[in-house]
Amino acid sequence: MERSYWGDKTEVMSDDKQTTPPLLGAQPDDMFPALTPEQQARVAAHGRVRQVEARQTVVEANSEPNKFFSVVTGQLNIIKVTENREEVVGVCRPGMFTGEMNVLSGRRGLVTIRTAEASELIEIDREALLALVQTDTELSDIFLRAFILRRMELIARGISDLVLIGSTHSLDTLRIKEFLTRNYQPYSYIDLERAADVQELLDRFKVGIADLPVLICRGKLVLRNPTNLEITACLGFNEAIDQTHVRDMIVVGAGPAGLAAAVYGASEGLDVLVLESNAPGGQAGTSSKIENYLGFPTGISGLELAGRAYTQAQKFGAQVLIAENAKGLVCDRRPYAIKIDNGEQVTARTIIIATGVQYRRLDLENLSRFEGAGVYYGATHLEAQLCNDEEVLVVGGGNSAGQAAVFLAQTARRVYMLVRGNGLADTMSRYLIRRIEESPTIQLRTNSEVISLEGNDHLEQVQWRDNKTGSIETINVGALFSMIGAVPNSSWLDGCVARDALGFIKTGSDLSPEDLDRAQWPLNREPHLLETSLPGVFAVGDVRGGNLKRVASAVGEGSIVASFVHQVLSE
Ligand SMILES: Cc1cc2nc3c(=O)[nH]c(=O)nc-3n(C[C@H](O)[C@H](O)[C@H](O)COP(=O)(O)OP(=O)(O)OC[C@H]3O[C@@H](n4cnc5c(N)ncnc54)[C@H](O)[C@@H]3O)c2cc1C
Repeated sequence: MERSYWGDKTEVMSDDKQTTPPLLGAQPDDMFPALTPEQQARVAAHGRVRQVEARQTVVEANSEPNKFFSVVTGQLNIIKVTENREEVVGVCRPGMFTGEMNVLSGRRGLVTIRTAEASELIEIDREALLALVQTDTELSDIFLRAFILRRMELIARGISDLVLIGSTHSLDTLRIKEFLTRNYQPYSYIDLERAADVQELLDRFKVGIADLPVLICRGKLVLRNPTNLEITACLGFNEAIDQTHVRDMIVVGAGPAGLAAAVYGASEGLDVLVLESNAPGGQAGTSSKIENYLGFPTGISGLELAGRAYTQAQKFGAQVLIAENAKGLVCDRRPYAIKIDNGEQVTARTIIIATGVQYRRLDLENLSRFEGAGVYYGATHLEAQLCNDEEVLVVGGGNSAGQAAVFLAQTARRVYMLVRGNGLADTMSRYLIRRIEESPTIQLRTNSEVISLEGNDHLEQVQWRDNKTGSIETINVGALFSMIGAVPNSSWLDGCVARDALGFIKTGSDLSPEDLDRAQWPLNREPHLLETSLPGVFAVGDVRGGNLKRVASAVGEGSIVASFVHQVLSE
């Protein structure tokens, strides 16, 4: 009997279920399909055929994915390498091919690939593969599907040399977990509160308690409470930036709006760079289930939607840099430049601002003490795990609060929902209101606002006041989900583009003659739809004044902005 392409399941230290972008109806053969001789010939036309002796390494773990192989005769073994041990976790037989999502993203690989016997291989460079997936739709479908499924399998098996040691009471532990999960990075997690033998591991790496959380990267490098940028550097997420290169378009922000702009821009032949300060997907990436986005009648998780869009943008050749924060726009000359970390700048003829919004924080003196230790701004499975079968509180009356309450009600014992207004009708979609009304687990409190938080190293108690009756209620809860509206991420643009009183960016016909005078608008034409007061600089999605805060409108605006970019580039 044939053994499975992937070896037997390996032990994973993690007790976290990492959400991955599942593809419906996936079969093992989708993950390791065999190309027909005719399909292989099309691949070979972009590379060369090599005879390779037995036991030769063709891809080293932790190296950049420069090469892609398809087996003509013989066999390739896919090997997980840990400190002292090698384990064959998969095999490629004749017709099959190597690679997973990292081939598209350019990130360093997780496995070593070696010939099991003397083999004939088709070898092609990564650049040639990227060109092939853009022109050959049949091969593109086969490769993309296999690449995504393989990454999911690597995540599910915890095939990674990343170990996170942290605590459920630490905001930075949650930050790193979210960052790795939302960037589809497998890792193992050791919780200090639950693992008795952690001290030995810490001693081995000379790590003190004050250094936590600690990320052991590549089995060797010990990162003490690393920033997201330090993690990306260790994992080799980002390709080097050529600062002299002037792009057609830089997209700032890889939420739905930015990813849509990248997909349409790159697919229409523009040279596109995307800068994302955290992880692809933006706010939508933190949504447990988006049910009102066209084409997904049973809903789709934000992580899955983001994963698909991210892969799509890379397939068309957009370069996406993760954990790269746009710190300022140099707007007094063209081409424009964006200041990023380490004093570097990237330049482009047009800029798409897709930086979205971030949550407002509750106005409570000791709030920061409990952020990550009971106060959360997203309700994904990571946070839900922390309050299984407990009482929780959701603050806010918008759709994101409604979604969070409905999601948490599946696992929490009781969900209190606190809104300042009289009810939900003015702020929430009808389908969510109905679910909240029908849920026996959710208790709605209107006209109410949080007045105090109590606890030691973790949130234990919350007090709120009913502003109508003046009565005060106190409950023992370990988790408060704060979803009370948002402020635009536009402060990095200070002085460059016209904004409204709340900081949202004005575009198109929303720009008054005074705005344009103040900005010294230099052209005879009016600003295009979505164009800011600075020619060639556009704003799309939630950060734009007048935008409807929805995934569909963000995607719609991102999708059409490329057509205006073409017009500006031809001016
Ligand atoms: C929990 C939740 C559930 C939701 N559910 C739904 C739903 O069911 N249906 C629906 O239609 N809408 C929903 N929404 C709203 C929807 O997610 C947003 O309208 C949509 O994500 C906006 O997309 P965007 O790309 O404009 O901005 P965002 O999603 O906010 O993305 C902006 C991106 O820019 C990045 N960024 C910010 N500043 C910088 C910088 N200086 N440099 C580089 N990068 C930067 C951020 O990290 C982020 O990734 C939900 C929102 C939340 C929070």
